Amino acid sequence: VSDFDAGSLRGAYFDGRTSAASPVEIRIEAGSMLVQGDGVARAWPLDGVRIAPRIGNAARTIDFPDGAACEVRDNDGLDRLLRATPPPSRAHRAIHLLESRLKFVAAAVALTVLVGWASIQYGVPWLAREVAHALPRDVDTALGEGALEGMDQLFFERSQVDRAVRPRLRAKFAELARAAMLEAQPRLEFRASPDFGANAFALPSGIVVVTDELVASASDEELVAVLAHELGHIHHRHALRGVLQNAITPLLLAAVTGDVSVLVGTMPTLLIDMKYSRLFELEADDFAVELLDRQGIPRHHLADILARMTSTEESDAGLGHYLSSHPATSERIERINRR
Ligand SMILES: [Zn+2]
Repeated sequence: VSDFDAGSLRGAYFDGRTSAASPVEIRIEAGSMLVQGDGVARAWPLDGVRIAPRIGNAARTIDFPDGAACEVRDNDGLDRLLRATPPPSRAHRAIHLLESRLKFVAAAVALTVLVGWASIQYGVPWLAREVAHALPRDVDTALGEGALEGMDQLFFERSQVDRAVRPRLRAKFAELARAAMLEAQPRLEFRASPDFGANAFALPSGIVVVTDELVASASDEELVAVLAHELGHIHHRHALRGVLQNAITPLLLAAVTGDVSVLVGTMPTLLIDMKYSRLFELEADDFAVELLDRQGIPRHHLADILARMTSTEESDAGLGHYLSSHPATSERIERINRR
């Protein structure tokens, strides 16, 4: 009855929970002790296995780290098995140690990345919002005027919008702003911008800029829809929050990771930039849709002008811009129509 080879012996297996013993075959393979029998198939690294010393011919127990055990009566067989097993070499031990350290390091790195990601993903936007709402109005005004001045120098040119058209649009804007019941007193500015094309911007302190290109390409209803969207940005203080987020994230990354990770740090910054500007757009859209509904202006005007602005942007702004803005825009249009 010996289908067991020389490298194995018989024993009784106890699972450590019940007193039942099951007959098993015990062998050693590749640094592990294998225990196999009826309904039992287990293996433990030899390092963790405790084998009782031989005392005469008394049965010996083999204790496993999880509380299971084997009882072996074949003392000679057990000794033969152990003699045939080369002791773990230094190299083997070193590799084992290294493996367990690497696992530890990997876990530590994963945890650090997770904590870092969570602080950027949730902490930074939260902090930026808190700071944005806590800043005194003077700071907001100074930032708004400063931003407009800077953009005037860099991107904007004097508007050519007809002097007769401006008061009409300003009146519509004022009516919309009144209905929006904002904290800040919004102000509409006209600028030409070959760089940005048909576009609108909400700066801190309630300054809304529309480009000549937008005025030329949009109907009055569409313009009002865009202005409602920009008022949403103002209501949520998105410009200030965006600036603060962009300022806080690199500082936080530097503080957490040190100089070494600047390269690694760039990517998440870019990612949340994209993600949060998308979130800002959705928030502003929601605000606009509600405002337009209240004013009895069909919301499809917002979806229409959005679709047109995106298609012109895509045609002249290259693939990168296309990739980053395209899914968000279709998502936004669908959302505006659905709500
Ligand atoms: Zn927007």
